[in-house]
Amino acid sequence: MTEARKVVIVGSGPAGLTAAIYAARAQLEPLVIEGEPSSTSDQPGGQLMLTTEIENFPGFVDGIMGPELMASFRAQAARFGAEYLTAKVSRVELEERPFRLWVGDGDEPTYTAEAVIVATGARSLMLGLPEEARLLGHGVSTCATCDGFFFRDQDIMVVGGGDSALEEALFLTRFGRTVTIVHRRDQLRASKVMQERAFANEKITFRWNSLVTAINGESKVESVQLRDVTTGAEDTVPVGGLFVAIGHEPNTAVFSGQLELEDNGYIRTFGGTRTSVEGVFACGDVQDHEYRQAITAAGSGCMAAIDVERWLEAKA
Ligand code: NAP
Repeated sequence: MTEARKVVIVGSGPAGLTAAIYAARAQLEPLVIEGEPSSTSDQPGGQLMLTTEIENFPGFVDGIMGPELMASFRAQAARFGAEYLTAKVSRVELEERPFRLWVGDGDEPTYTAEAVIVATGARSLMLGLPEEARLLGHGVSTCATCDGFFFRDQDIMVVGGGDSALEEALFLTRFGRTVTIVHRRDQLRASKVMQERAFANEKITFRWNSLVTAINGESKVESVQLRDVTTGAEDTVPVGGLFVAIGHEPNTAVFSGQLELEDNGYIRTFGGTRTSVEGVFACGDVQDHEYRQAITAAGSGCMAAIDVERWLEAKA
């Protein structure tokens, strides 16, 4: 049986849940299809579920744990009537209104919606090492802006050779004693200007042609094992932090072919949160590859709910 909804929000990170708070308070009775736990990089609550302490979310003088913050967002939206479905959207059809959304593999759509907010976020690409997931938030990080502060006076390693890796490394020089960039080739992919900045920074050194083969440490990162791909030689480098900066991937698979995407796969938005389909709005990291902060995602979730409210009113 297909259930008709006014507003369906897909995704439950800071963007989706902020949209839910605003939409619920606007009496739009939103349904949040929040995802379901499937892997460490893909779960309800988004990327903050993978962090430990957050010190830069305004309003929390002493910081707050990522999962605790997301639980508060979720409860706050529920308080105003947002409903949740712990599942993944498997298919959408956005050519006609009401929009149709499927959960599971049935023929009939599970929901129709007058408006849809896409807040499915992005995930950091990871190295795929077994210790990586265990030590995420305990020395392994994917966000220097979020976690750099915790590594004051430590030796830090950054993996990757693109702009993100160099940007993270440069930022980390404010805190770390040393920053080592590990790259699998002997040439960087990053822009020349970033390369020049990194080469000029006294705290940064490079390990070329090297792969991370293991991360050591029981409760926190203690050292990282590297293999030189040209010689096969392995060595162990003591570090307190390992920042993985090998790129991000927006979670757009289910919307491809339905919404216009940027060349890099992120959803294209037009002035605020409108997408190429009228009545479908996108917010948070799924449409932002620039700022990627919980607070900016939450801000754009708020914008999406207001955009939806105005759009539904204008259409009525
Ligand atoms: P990216 O350009 O795709 O670079 C990813 C880097 O990670 C590459 O050097 C790649 O190596 C390496 N890599 C990928 N998979 C790996 C693996 N499994 N193990 C080890 N290394 C791996 O990604 P990005 O740096 O996140 O940048 C994405 C886009 O955002 C780019 O267009 C970038 O210019 C832009 N950006 C701009 C700025 C800025 O201008 N300030 C800042 C951040 C990002 P290879 O080089 O060998 O492929």
